[in-house]
Amino acid sequence: HAKNCGKNNAKLYSSSLTMQIMSHVKLEVGLRKALKNQELYLLYQPQIEVRTGEIVGVEALVRWRHPERGIVSPTEFIPLAEETGLIVPIGEWVLRTACNQAMAWHRIARRSLRMAVNLSAKQFKDENLSQIVISALHDTGLDPKMLELELTEGTLMDDARATMATLEQLRAIGVYLSIDDFGTGYSSMNYLKRFDVRALKIDKSFICGLPQDTENAAITRAIIAMAHGLKMVVVAEGVETDEQLLMLQEYGCDMVQGFYLGHPSPHEAITQILLQPCAAAPAPAK
Ligand code: C2E
Ligand code: MG
Ligand code: MG
Ligand code: MG
Repeated sequence: HAKNCGKNNAKLYSSSLTMQIMSHVKLEVGLRKALKNQELYLLYQPQIEVRTGEIVGVEALVRWRHPERGIVSPTEFIPLAEETGLIVPIGEWVLRTACNQAMAWHRIARRSLRMAVNLSAKQFKDENLSQIVISALHDTGLDPKMLELELTEGTLMDDARATMATLEQLRAIGVYLSIDDFGTGYSSMNYLKRFDVRALKIDKSFICGLPQDTENAAITRAIIAMAHGLKMVVVAEGVETDEQLLMLQEYGCDMVQGFYLGHPSPHEAITQILLQPCAAAPAPAK
């Protein structure tokens, strides 16, 4: 009896494993064609300056409209793109599309928004990275100061010497750098001093428990104090409530991003915001 049970379980397990592998392979095959078939698109999430309540930038977030599966989240296909190296051409497409969109807003609304683009570790290690960035800026005409590349702690910690060389190349181009998901990876405070980073983005896992969670509150305050001491700007990610915004304002956080201030949205929706006479986000209740 027990044996039978085990056997059945093993069979069940192996068939679901096979299915997992098959769907992984299928997804990979699909991802190879996604760019050519124009199945990828970008959403843009507002980044709001706390002091003024104004939208000053957006973060570009990629989506995949799969012909059978519907919308696939980047948390699912970016790791696959990394594994297969497809992240390099996909990343280049993201960068060009985002720079192009920033220029389009500039033309339509005569307002400049800083465009933040996520870079994964493999893109950062690609020897052609600076050339890709230079040509995206050149071909679209975007001012390098209006482009911000988001890196994670993991990417920066990998190989100190190569990292420094790449960061120096990017700095020479004149783009800004920020550290994404700050506080969730291994960080050495040393690199914050050495690297020329404009902004720290506090990971949403610290913001989500605010204002009740006293530990997350302490961490958030400490990150803000440290960043300001190092002349960096702080962005809070994942702001979902008015109370969180109020608390972050009290703590002196510079910028906020999250569902409370605006979901990742198609470019047309951002254009609408920019064309409003006063493009202000909801102000925290006093
Ligand atoms: P991320 O760069 O940290 O982006 C923030 C994520 O938080 C986004 O998820 C965004 O939709 C989500 N988010 C924004 N506001 C809130 C909020 O108030 N509450 C909650 N719970 N979530 C919020 P998304 O778009 O699913 O992207 C997930 C991750 O995928 C990104 O995390 C980034 O690491 C990666 N990613 C997205 N687009 C790209 C890309 O073009 N290139 C690369 N290399 N990675 C990308
Ligand atoms: Mg990001
Ligand atoms: Mg993040
Ligand atoms: Mg991230």
